[in-house]
Amino acid sequence: MIRNALTVDLEDWFHPEYIASEVNPEHAIPMIEQSYEKTLNLLNELQIRSTFFVNGQIAERYPYIIREIEKQGHEIASHGYTHTPLWRMSPETFAKEVSKSNTAIKKAISKHPIGFRAPSFSLSNKTSWALKILKKAGYLYDSSVFPVRTPLYGVKGAPLRPYRPSLVNIAEEQEDEQIIEFPPLAISFLGIRVPTPGGFYFRITPASLVRHAIAKVNRHGYPAMLYFHPWELMEETPRIRLSLFRRFVSYVKLSRTEKQIRSIARVFRFAPVREILEL
Ligand SMILES: [Zn+2]
Repeated sequence: MIRNALTVDLEDWFHPEYIASEVNPEHAIPMIEQSYEKTLNLLNELQIRSTFFVNGQIAERYPYIIREIEKQGHEIASHGYTHTPLWRMSPETFAKEVSKSNTAIKKAISKHPIGFRAPSFSLSNKTSWALKILKKAGYLYDSSVFPVRTPLYGVKGAPLRPYRPSLVNIAEEQEDEQIIEFPPLAISFLGIRVPTPGGFYFRITPASLVRHAIAKVNRHGYPAMLYFHPWELMEETPRIRLSLFRRFVSYVKLSRTEKQIRSIARVFRFAPVREILEL
């Protein structure tokens, strides 16, 4: 039976792009100590080992959280340092972010991460310089190329299975490249791609369709990449004032996240990305 990845983006409720523009993190009350515990308890109960893409500032401020996650058999990977999308950074700034994130993770668990996920899936052909920086920093896989174009991010026509992206065109494969891209799950219907990997998409998609999407990629011999955020599991997550669209994307059906996870946990097997890709 193929093992899939149910990954966690370890960040706080004020980190997502639409919310970060409205909230000053210095004044926001962190909830990560509660939300990471809820996440670990759920994964434990469902006997799922996962990969946590951790925010570097959290790793720096709460090294015990990162240690605890690792101790329970999960993989620690990087989600950058400040949760800034690549499209707002220069290559130099990004290189500094990678280094700071690595230092924080290494300090916490004495290990170098090999996996990366860019905030807001911001890796595209416009920001593909990031792959060179990740390669140089010793990364072996990435999970930031969203294979459906959305208002905020995405790369049209990118592969729906793990592949080695070319630095010239990241939607194309180049077998001798170092970094493996493991794209978030999407399903193709009559030529139209529907993303179902996590977050907002996960919450609005019927459970049967998510299961169908996973089963379909598995039938083709590939693992599926899913994700969720600890703040999505918390009833206490603050709801801030946003435009109608942003409020919908950020908060619609938050309580469905846990139900979806439980529904797929009954049917599929999961493992940390490092083990799935045999790295
Ligand atoms: Zn994030």
